[in-house]
Amino acid sequence: MIVFLPSFHNLGKNIRIMGITGGIGSGKSTLARMMTRYGVTHLDADTISREVSAPGTPGLAMIVKEFGTSILTASGDLDRRRLGDIVFNDCQARRRLQEIIHPLITHQVKSRLQTLPGPIVYEATLLLESGHDSLVDMVVTVSAPADTRLKRIQVRPGMTEEKARTLISVQQSDQWREERSHAVVRNTGDLQDLMKDAQELAFLMSE
Ligand code: ATP
Repeated sequence: MIVFLPSFHNLGKNIRIMGITGGIGSGKSTLARMMTRYGVTHLDADTISREVSAPGTPGLAMIVKEFGTSILTASGDLDRRRLGDIVFNDCQARRRLQEIIHPLITHQVKSRLQTLPGPIVYEATLLLESGHDSLVDMVVTVSAPADTRLKRIQVRPGMTEEKARTLISVQQSDQWREERSHAVVRNTGDLQDLMKDAQELAFLMSE
């Protein structure tokens, strides 16, 4: 179900770039992928984050300089789980990592938002926290109760209930995101319900 907030009515008609955000396991990737069925291009901050820290990039070199070679796999890739474990309980380390990676991601996102054709859905967990909401025409938060999100993410490899709970607790709340959004997708139904919402959002961008 989509709830349009009062700020939505102040938006102009031309929505070319829609920003999708939400807590871990809320369903934002699923929603953004569904929107591609209706002709919308999906740009994903997480994919870009992987690209700018791939082997041979200045990004990976800076991360290694800061955190040491123990965050590399035997084949020289970034060991995301290991790095995740390091920054998991250490907000200073998390901030240092953000300071390295954020400008690299921002540069790529800006460039792609300019060059990609047609309507774009830009999915980013930290859309609001990073200030990337200023790059989009409309902000949509995907929300779901913490218990539902816990169930959805617990099945992931390397995830425990305790880790999932901590990941949820260190993120901003749904209420915080909703206060900064133009619309909220309450992802509490099934995947068919979410598909209807995807279609409605894509339709907004073709009007
Ligand atoms: P992350 O922040 O970790 O990237 P996310 O917000 O992008 O998470 P998804 O990966 O889209 O979340 O969804 C998490 C899981 O929940 C997926 O397995 C997805 O298929 C499932 N899911 C999402 N929405 C629904 C729904 N309405 N009904 C059933 N399963 C759902």
